[in-house]
Amino acid sequence: MLLATMLKGMIGGDQNATLDRLLDECDARTQGLEGLLQAPEGAAPRHTFTSTAPPELLSMATVSAARRLRVAPTMIRMMGALQKSTRYYDARFKPDGREARPELFVELEEAARRGGAAAVRYVSLPDDSIFRGKGVPHRNVIVYAVAMRKEALDTAPSFEAFQEVARAYLRLLLLGNRLTELLRARGHAAYPGTALGGLTDYTRLAELAGLGAIGYHGLLITPEDGVMLRLNTIYTSIENLPTVEAEEVGWIRDFCAMCGKCVRSCPVDAIHPRPVAQDSGRVQCIDAGVCLDYFAQNFGCAVCADVCPFTQVGYDRIRRRFKGNPTAPRYTLTTEPS
Ligand code: SF4
Ligand code: SF4
Repeated sequence: MLLATMLKGMIGGDQNATLDRLLDECDARTQGLEGLLQAPEGAAPRHTFTSTAPPELLSMATVSAARRLRVAPTMIRMMGALQKSTRYYDARFKPDGREARPELFVELEEAARRGGAAAVRYVSLPDDSIFRGKGVPHRNVIVYAVAMRKEALDTAPSFEAFQEVARAYLRLLLLGNRLTELLRARGHAAYPGTALGGLTDYTRLAELAGLGAIGYHGLLITPEDGVMLRLNTIYTSIENLPTVEAEEVGWIRDFCAMCGKCVRSCPVDAIHPRPVAQDSGRVQCIDAGVCLDYFAQNFGCAVCADVCPFTQVGYDRIRRRFKGNPTAPRYTLTTEPS
């Protein structure tokens, strides 16, 4: 059914709402599990992919048939992997080994790197990271990232950049399924995220896990790969997930406070000049509704990711210049109350 919905969307150019429908089908499968941790009252909703732009202006409707065919193999494999990910949410699956041997984490991280992961981290999920109306099977989360090629993102917004992002999501999904199999084979419960959409706020979880910091464009910035990343999660019964010594990256948002390049470069002014603090303590960086219409008509846009100095100049050079500059602002709180 998932595959059928997706193919109809691609072939018919009915990209509007197709992805949300798919993701809702995925989420529905989680609801059969017992003891889900539910989102608290007032939790943030997951961003929608359904834009208000006319269907005939959406990227998949305007792209040539040749290009559609070029991306089709990636999309079909992606939806096959997504379908497989959702099948793990089966109430008949019971293992729940809570204590893992240290060697398992070595094995897991090696398997992740072989499968193309740029980084793996662990975090205990705060309730407010669960999206409104969603539930997750376990609080213990493995967060992992795959990197994208800068050369492709440099062309954003473009079909090439869109293809690179699609390939990243495919790698995330394949990897999530592989790591889930590994953990289950060792007697632990594991449920992969869907990479696209998801039950929880992956970017926030990645920041809490010490992978990097969220920039003003709302994307994660890491020491290893800057902004060129996409994220996914695995929810597991393992309670002794190892914490990883992380580089201190709090200065990134101070740098953002004097940079603002993504704010100025966004074609539709969707990025707030300063992230807006929410009552929950989370921050809102983007007006998602404003971003979405442009995003949907321009191959997923990604201009903000591309212009970011962490993409163009690189983390290490920025860190050296900024941290070595005595007059640069330090650890200022740069969010504004809602
Ligand atoms: S472009 Fe500048 S302000 Fe925007 S996230 Fe990157 S560093 Fe921060
Ligand atoms: S993806 Fe494009 S439209 Fe959306 S915030 Fe970034 S630059 Fe703006």
